[in-house]
Amino acid sequence: MLTQDMTNVQRIIMHVDMDSFFASVEQQANPRLRGKPIAVSGDPKSRTVVAAASKEAKRFGVKSAMTIGEARRLCPKIQFVLGDPDKYVSVAQRIVRVFQEYTPDVEVASIDEAFLEMTGWSTHFACGDCVRTGAARGDGEESRAWCGAVRMIAELRRCLYREVGEWITCSVGVAQNKRLAKLASDFRKPNGLVLVYPHAGVGAHPMPDVVCAVTRETLLASLQLRDLGGIGPRIEERLRRMGIATIAQLAGTPITVLRDAFGVYGNELHDMAMGHDVRPVSANDADPKSMGHSVTLPRDLRTVEEIRPVVEELAERVTARLRRDGFRGSLIRLTMRYGDFTDAHEQRTISEATNDGRRVARAVMDMLAARLMRLPVRLVGISVGHLVRVTATQVSLFAEDVRWQSAIAAMDAANHRHGAWTVLRASLLGHPRVLRRVAAAFQSTAHLRDAVDADGIVGEDRDDPSVGTDGQK
Ligand SMILES: [Mg+2]
Repeated sequence: MLTQDMTNVQRIIMHVDMDSFFASVEQQANPRLRGKPIAVSGDPKSRTVVAAASKEAKRFGVKSAMTIGEARRLCPKIQFVLGDPDKYVSVAQRIVRVFQEYTPDVEVASIDEAFLEMTGWSTHFACGDCVRTGAARGDGEESRAWCGAVRMIAELRRCLYREVGEWITCSVGVAQNKRLAKLASDFRKPNGLVLVYPHAGVGAHPMPDVVCAVTRETLLASLQLRDLGGIGPRIEERLRRMGIATIAQLAGTPITVLRDAFGVYGNELHDMAMGHDVRPVSANDADPKSMGHSVTLPRDLRTVEEIRPVVEELAERVTARLRRDGFRGSLIRLTMRYGDFTDAHEQRTISEATNDGRRVARAVMDMLAARLMRLPVRLVGISVGHLVRVTATQVSLFAEDVRWQSAIAAMDAANHRHGAWTVLRASLLGHPRVLRRVAAAFQSTAHLRDAVDADGIVGEDRDDPSVGTDGQK
């Protein structure tokens, strides 16, 4: 979980909003509806409203929640399609699975929108130019994060296209928090990509797919109070009576004045106007059967050794979530997707349920036989299933494990306080050569410098004796 005091961390959050979702799904399913004004509704003979209008219908002013009569008046040629909720849910699930191939932290906000936590992940997709020159300019981390975000979205859109079809498009907002990301995704629809830069001049180079890049100030200045979400007609009217008619005026109102008028909601109003938001992106996995993470790699990998650091990082991320939510599991699954988009799955049951990243990584590496490397690999996923709740009475049989458990607890506590991946196991750093080659990723040195040097952590899984505890030797 990320908190506000993590000012040194460049948060990158995406809000993906499917364009005219139900209508697009219908147009995808029935090519004869494509390019035409349609509305998804209940039975048009009964008293029903528009559930979704296609982008063609929206051009005539047709909107959700309008009556059939109103829609017909605005657009006499409109066709009504009987809504099919099961179909929309099934397409939405496929879309979410695509998102989950890019980040483990996907918060499904509604059937057609989700937040993706890309902090730490987007960097892996940065172009070679940003990786090479970013550091020289002194804004390396930041440019890489934003450049990577844009390139990742292009890639994600290609995957959505393959998975659900070309007619189902999305608008994406990228910002440092959920509030701004959501406002941004709405800023240029359909098929928009809007970046909200933390300050002017982040843009490393022109990025062709970006529809629009703005600063927080520009974005907020372009909106009305009502656009903020959370300000309905009643609050708007009360604000107006206080002489507040614009977002800038709301931002300029002392927070004490807002608190006097609206109680605790005054804080929220102030945050809205400033574009502040510290809410984490929380993946919706309340009662999981399994927990897994997968990652689409910035470039295809060809050898077991290249994949090892990816496996170790994924195993750490999966098990950190297991520990956070109080689970252990004994079924370890490995998924690989190849360059030709075929998949391979392997699984194995281990003797004792675990939430230890080392054990999971070891089980995965055992499965990762050479025959699995028959083609270049574009995605690696790990999941842990057969979950059991960790109970207070569960005591490990081995003294070594007890020591290791307390080291893990310290690591989790540090990560919780300072943000994910502040502290990593030293063995994750043990592959500098591979890491550099993989471009990717996991080399973000500012974080890794603080690798834990605790008894039981360093050296356990290290297979390169020349590498010391900080990966520098
Ligand atoms: Mg939508």
